[in-house]
Amino acid sequence: MGPNITDTLHRPLRDLRISVTDRCNFRCRYCMPAEIYGEHYRFMPKAEMLSFEEIARLVRIMAGFGVEKIRLTGGEPLVRQQLEKLVEQIAAIDGIDDIAITTNGVLLPQKIQALKDAGLKRVTISLDSLDNDVFRRMNGERADVQQVLDGIAAAQQAGFAPIKINSVAQRGVNDHTLVDLARYCRDNGLILRFIEYMDVGTLNGWKLDQVVPAREIIERIGAEIPLEPIEPNYRGEVASRYRYADGSGEIGVIASVTQPFCGTCTRLRLTPEGNIYTCLFAVQGTELRDLLRSGAPDEAIADRIRGVWQARADRYSEIRSSLTDLERPKVEMYHIGG
Ligand code: SAM
Ligand code: SF4
Ligand code: SF4
Repeated sequence: MGPNITDTLHRPLRDLRISVTDRCNFRCRYCMPAEIYGEHYRFMPKAEMLSFEEIARLVRIMAGFGVEKIRLTGGEPLVRQQLEKLVEQIAAIDGIDDIAITTNGVLLPQKIQALKDAGLKRVTISLDSLDNDVFRRMNGERADVQQVLDGIAAAQQAGFAPIKINSVAQRGVNDHTLVDLARYCRDNGLILRFIEYMDVGTLNGWKLDQVVPAREIIERIGAEIPLEPIEPNYRGEVASRYRYADGSGEIGVIASVTQPFCGTCTRLRLTPEGNIYTCLFAVQGTELRDLLRSGAPDEAIADRIRGVWQARADRYSEIRSSLTDLERPKVEMYHIGG
């Protein structure tokens, strides 16, 4: 299929994030606010979504360009029926050495063993607060903290370790509960990653003053549980890492707003209906589904993907503050995959 490819800023293509569905069993206010994604919202019909075979074919083609890591996301990836069949197909592809999932965790007790057996390697579970009232408010009253903790326990029992926890810090919403969550994760062998609240999409009403800067998060936790910075695990790691000075574990912050990392961004995103996006904040994607369904050979699909990556110049987070059109239509997070 050809050698590795680089974009206009010399970044190789290494990771693919696959949004396997636009549906979700939560209505997090910062992602799919319930007043917009209500009973009458029209989610994507099945025929419009890529089949597992179509997704696996794209992964095989991209593996030829150097893609090594796959992350399944959404929407809530576990609401897609028989997701383990997709994992099995991807795990069989030469060159793919990592398959991970990001999930809200609620369906893990039912699903995790089949996913593990199919070849899933890593699990990231989102949990914004241990305070049940705060958590319910954030997820649109769809689930209790205990359901997520049960999901975490199920993943631990299935042998996943270490498990990462994603937590979006929002000022005035959950920032008074950050230290509690850090303590809980440390005590339970979980690697917590706080994510700065981002201006993805256009529907969540994002405001800069709701962002809790990563530095402040680290200062607040460090004041109670002393921390020391540590080196990234690999080039392009998005989290800044810290270890607890007493050796009891590590924590990270993903400073997408205050300390952007576009320079090492090697990610491509695939939407449920088969469009690829070169940036989380992209305005427009490139469609692959019609090409796939037209009977095109792998070379034609590879050419389109190569063309998109080689033309890529995205560095939205680095230039955010100098942009004047922040109101431009961006694609929503649950659609493009977080
Ligand atoms: N439903 C799954 C979940 O919540 O883990 C996977 C999809 S979700 C879009 C992926 C991640 O994006 C979650 O950890 C979520 O908290 C995060 N996220 C969603 N909207 C965000 C925003 N506006 N800023 C920062 N992170 C966000
Ligand atoms: Fe669903 Fe995840 Fe978005 Fe929350 S963040 S609404 S769980 S897709
Ligand atoms: Fe990558 Fe775009 Fe995020 Fe920069 S803003 S790190 S290019 S996804």
